[in-house]
Amino acid sequence: MNNAKIILDDIKTELKQRLQAVHYLLWIDELEGVSCSDSQLVILAPSEHVKNTVEKNHLYDFIEAGRMVNCPVINFIFITKEDLSKYVNSCDTTQNDDNACKKVNNNSSFFIARYTFDNFVVGESNRLAFVTARTVAENPGINDGFLTLNPLFIYGGVGLGKTHLLHSIGNFILENNPSCNIIYMPTEKLTNEYFASLNKYSTDKDAYRNFREKYANADVLMLDDIQFLQKKGGLQDVIFHIFNDLYTKGKQIILSSDRPPKEINDIEDRLRSRFEGGIMTDIWSPSLDTRIEIIMKKLECTKNSLSEDIVYYLAEKINTNIRELEGALLKVIMFCTLTNRKPSLELAKEALKEQEDQRNEDIDSEKIISSVSSYFNISKSDIISKKKNKEIVEARMIAIYLVYDLLNLPLINIGQIFGGRDHTTIIYSRDKILNNLAQNTKTTKVISDLKEMLNVHN
Ligand code: ADP
Ligand code: MG
Repeated sequence: MNNAKIILDDIKTELKQRLQAVHYLLWIDELEGVSCSDSQLVILAPSEHVKNTVEKNHLYDFIEAGRMVNCPVINFIFITKEDLSKYVNSCDTTQNDDNACKKVNNNSSFFIARYTFDNFVVGESNRLAFVTARTVAENPGINDGFLTLNPLFIYGGVGLGKTHLLHSIGNFILENNPSCNIIYMPTEKLTNEYFASLNKYSTDKDAYRNFREKYANADVLMLDDIQFLQKKGGLQDVIFHIFNDLYTKGKQIILSSDRPPKEINDIEDRLRSRFEGGIMTDIWSPSLDTRIEIIMKKLECTKNSLSEDIVYYLAEKINTNIRELEGALLKVIMFCTLTNRKPSLELAKEALKEQEDQRNEDIDSEKIISSVSSYFNISKSDIISKKKNKEIVEARMIAIYLVYDLLNLPLINIGQIFGGRDHTTIIYSRDKILNNLAQNTKTTKVISDLKEMLNVHN
């Protein structure tokens, strides 16, 4: 399978969750990946009509989905059969694998090729995390009795570069030691894998053993977003033992999380103390200077250029999350390409405004909370309260997710709307629902019903 196909498949899976089924089937299902490089993904549409509709109505969905699957290409190019020969020849991934967005390790862990230390902009907010990650990559498992960087625990808010650093470690080690058995796993995937192996147990006794062996044989184990580790089904027990085995053998363990171990409620104390036993380092929001540098780096990597005033505008406007910063940059570039106009500050503002308008359409948090309240038959004050009954917590998380998804508000403001909650709680709720959306049709249906009630169509 070529890279374009792998990436488009990831994006399609994401779009399936985001779009109404009928829209997905009409416009997305039949698209095919043609070629990809670091800067563009060429997608073949079955007809001119589909191509035009996707460009007009779903481009932002593609950009968002690309970001969600950690593969933000700078340019989505939609073509029909007539243009095929031009693009197949000009950008064939099999010939320029160095540019490919993903490269595959011998044990099928994926490392995104552009997530390297070289492409990581270092500033005050991430310097310690960067230096530690780099040291671990140069010397995995280091423990001379005095200095131990095992495990390495990197924590910080969403979109601040944790996954980028983990992949950088992976890419770096593989470059120097191609036979190193590195396992990179998002915690949700590990969870699915574990439960799938248990479910198969009655018919396939080896499934669980294979699962254990795979991890027991790792030279380097990276678990991304460990805050999603659930306290059920014996999973933590298994992780604890894998952890101890690897640690005793001097194998490197690397973990990332959106918060420090002591704030992850759902983990057992013995596991928490293991997580805290090596080095912990956090990443916080980048300063304006670092944001500007990140934009410049991104432009350089993708061979685009924008004037200083646009770069400054973007860096000023999007001040917390680098993933969003990249998304905004993409939108501006795509907007100029599609409207065939030269980038200017006005155009940049227009590009981002269009996105906000699309999102807002008469909706505010009050309306969202009212809809959730009537949908679940739970009072508005209960939704905002600190009550912890299962039903109320679920409705609250759904409401928080919708406010995040539909209104372009800073997390801190969302926290204020929901009774002065801390922004990490908001991140937690949002990610929990995103996680459910990725696997659970019930949540998907609830969100789509509520969007219908709110008259949002996407
Ligand atoms: P997290 O895992 O913390 O949610 P990611 O590692 O996915 O965040 O980063 C989000 C996006 O921002 C990625 O595309 C990543 O390349 C980019 N990014 C984050 N930090 C930096 C940085 N310091 N320099 C360059 N790009 C960065
Ligand atoms: Mg991540």
